Amino acid sequence: MALENLAHLDKQYLWHPFTPMSLWLQDDPLVIVAAEGMHLIDQHGKRYLDGVSSLWCNVHGHRVPEIDAAIEAQLKKVAHSTMLGLSNEPAVLLAERLMKIVPSNLKKVFYSDSGATATEVAFKIAAQYWFNKGEKNKNEFIGFAEAYHGDTFGAMSVGRTELFHRAYWPMLFKTHAAPIPRLAAPLGGRVPGEIYGSPRPPSGAAKQIRDDCLAKLETILQNNASRIAAICIEPMVQGAGGMIVQPEGFLSGVRELATKYNTLLIADEVAVGFGRTGKMFACEHENVQPDLMCVAKGITGGYLPLAATFATQEIFDAFLGQPWEGKTFYHGHTYTGNPLACAAALASLDLFEKNDLVKKVQEKSQQLAAMLNELRDLPHVAEIRQKGFMVGIELIEDKKSNRAFDAKRRVGAHVCKQIRKHGVLLRPLGDVVIVMPPLAMQVHDLSRVVKAIHTEIAQL
Ligand code: PLP
Repeated sequence: MALENLAHLDKQYLWHPFTPMSLWLQDDPLVIVAAEGMHLIDQHGKRYLDGVSSLWCNVHGHRVPEIDAAIEAQLKKVAHSTMLGLSNEPAVLLAERLMKIVPSNLKKVFYSDSGATATEVAFKIAAQYWFNKGEKNKNEFIGFAEAYHGDTFGAMSVGRTELFHRAYWPMLFKTHAAPIPRLAAPLGGRVPGEIYGSPRPPSGAAKQIRDDCLAKLETILQNNASRIAAICIEPMVQGAGGMIVQPEGFLSGVRELATKYNTLLIADEVAVGFGRTGKMFACEHENVQPDLMCVAKGITGGYLPLAATFATQEIFDAFLGQPWEGKTFYHGHTYTGNPLACAAALASLDLFEKNDLVKKVQEKSQQLAAMLNELRDLPHVAEIRQKGFMVGIELIEDKKSNRAFDAKRRVGAHVCKQIRKHGVLLRPLGDVVIVMPPLAMQVHDLSRVVKAIHTEIAQL
């Protein structure tokens, strides 16, 4: 089959996620047919730097010999076997390995397949934990404004986005929305902010906003604590909300309030976990120990679908009992703990260690911050937000009057499309251009990505 035909067949048969299909059908889609290192290669043989890590999951690049070899070796043993009533070798070895790197209070791991299933599992464990302990009314959740936890019903309930979820609102369960501290006001009334480096002490304004948000969270807890099963937070950075970096002390403040009001803390590390923010897990920035922690995306180095929800011993123990007591966690997915994915994850963790990758992210993210600084004075750059290898460049039509671009212009999408001409693939979030390179991307490639962004934003 001629590779050129793939685009035609795609348009004939496929329905793409998070994609306005009317626009897709008018366009000439790129179909990735191969990859090498930091590059993806399309049907015409053109190479692109993977500037968003194939939707925030790639860690070491593509076709990494060590991970390829680990999957091939596992393939020669067994590709898949269930975790329901059985176990498998890589799943066990990975669990042991993960326990050495997650916050030390977490003692058990429940596998699933995606970020959304990891958070869904956390919500169900939290609700059933209280149920099993006889607290049958403790089944409401606190989520944060602009949060995103996935696209299943529990995840949509706790992380509500009007544009994405309004059709389902009547079907979502009750949650309480706490404010998230951010220096710039949300779209429309924005003030140009500042680059967030890491680590960086909060300015006076950030402290004030942080304390106001914590006070509002405390009011929600005071009024509802007897019904709150858990607070769920994306630690340090809200990803899909547009790379909103939390001021220092916010995460630890949330932890303190969760403890004070006897509710669980769920850390959704799906986007920030596995080195993204310059620590293996973002909770480490503030030495926070969550009661439940969700990971996915980077766990396999971005190779195969795998997710995990970690729990404390105390939570796990609340599910013990005779089968007829109904304390069991009746939840599972067919491909949970898939051996190929677990083998890839083990090889990825070896590479983290061998290449001292988390430390390298800390160093390279300083260099990346310096490069991004060059964009600050461009007329349409309202704000640049960064934590480690997570960057959001917010575009605005007019800085003086804080006028946002008309959403119908899809300026973020336009800029990212133009950037492809430079051999760089990016995907925006509205008018925020996102840069999420694989953690192993070298400085010269980071520089190519930033230069392409500079050129195209300058031409707006
Ligand atoms: N949680 C967070 C913080 C995320 O950023 C995402 C995806 O971007 C998810 C959950 C959902 O992950 P998945 O797309 O693997 O279901």
